[in-house]
Amino acid sequence: MAASSAIRTIISPGRYVQGKGALSRLGEFLAPLGKTPLLVSDDVVWGILGQRATDSLRAAQLPVTRERFGGIPTAAEVTRLVGVIDRTGADVIVALGGGSTMDAVKAAGFLAGIRWVTVPSVASTDAPTSALSVIYTADGAFEEYRFFPKNPDLVLMDTQLVADAPAAFLAAGVGDALATWLEARATRQAHANTMAGGLPTLAGTALAELSWGVIWDNALPALDAVRDHQVTPAVEKLVEANTLLSGLGFESGGLAAAHAIHNGLTAAHQTHGLAHGQKVNIGSVTQLVLEGAPTQEIRDFIEFTTRVGLPNTLTEVGLSVDDEDDLRRVAEAATVQGETIHNMPFPITPDELVSALKSIERFSRTVRSEAHLPAPVQYVAHQVDTH
Ligand SMILES: [Zn+2]
Repeated sequence: MAASSAIRTIISPGRYVQGKGALSRLGEFLAPLGKTPLLVSDDVVWGILGQRATDSLRAAQLPVTRERFGGIPTAAEVTRLVGVIDRTGADVIVALGGGSTMDAVKAAGFLAGIRWVTVPSVASTDAPTSALSVIYTADGAFEEYRFFPKNPDLVLMDTQLVADAPAAFLAAGVGDALATWLEARATRQAHANTMAGGLPTLAGTALAELSWGVIWDNALPALDAVRDHQVTPAVEKLVEANTLLSGLGFESGGLAAAHAIHNGLTAAHQTHGLAHGQKVNIGSVTQLVLEGAPTQEIRDFIEFTTRVGLPNTLTEVGLSVDDEDDLRRVAEAATVQGETIHNMPFPITPDELVSALKSIERFSRTVRSEAHLPAPVQYVAHQVDTH
């Protein structure tokens, strides 16, 4: 809570670059940042963009060293990458991939005392721009947030990569980004601190709200364009909303219940393998219920996120209203001391959270049925970047 010495603050990456084919200019933007880059990516991502990244670095007279990412941003993986930095003498580490790769790389770059850069291969989370990492256990449960004194020096987002990837990644990014305004709005109302370490600025809150509007206007046409692997103006706008606006908006606008509920859900093994943004969307619907938001607002949110292809029932994330023990564990984890649920403008107990979680099942089903939208079925957990 705000003390008399309260400050307002906003933080951001040194440079954000976005465009179709931007990867071909990676070397040009990397050259001012270091002479010995270390590229980190998993084999799938490297197979897709490794050659283009290599060509771009060579054109800028930079050496090309690539290390394979282990798959989950655990504390052990971060330590391993620090060892690789030491061994190779790298002066800038570059994450090519999704949120998990970026979380591990940012943490390793910080510990090794070198610069770090993110090159997202998908627009599935708002992790690329932030000065924090989420560390998970080896079996995928939330472990901790790690905060760094600065954001990436460069975020380079090639929108053609987003359009070439399955649309499900982009849809997951919408789930992560829709939460941003709901959480920033709550944080402002509570006069609570943001992830940037102070009260929100007008700018941080405004960027969060801007991302919300851009998503409602562009998500559905953008997803259709990406299903055909096309980059359209709607895709450019949605990618910026998912990545830059939501990234700055969550970090400097504040997190609240939705992300805490996401973190709680990782305590239920049924949700493992689902994308970060899918779980966050369960958190968003539940936060709206906890807020007692106007019924029409919740209905609109359920309808819209169903059309986007995001889960808004327990069924879709592998849970049910009868899973009393699991829901209790989720609620306990989401409300532990220090969780961002305590940024809400009112207290929330585990009991209240269990009730809210149970309530979304029947309500979302009703709304979907009345809107002639498909009934929920359990999502097939695909091996995507689960951050
Ligand atoms: Zn998130």
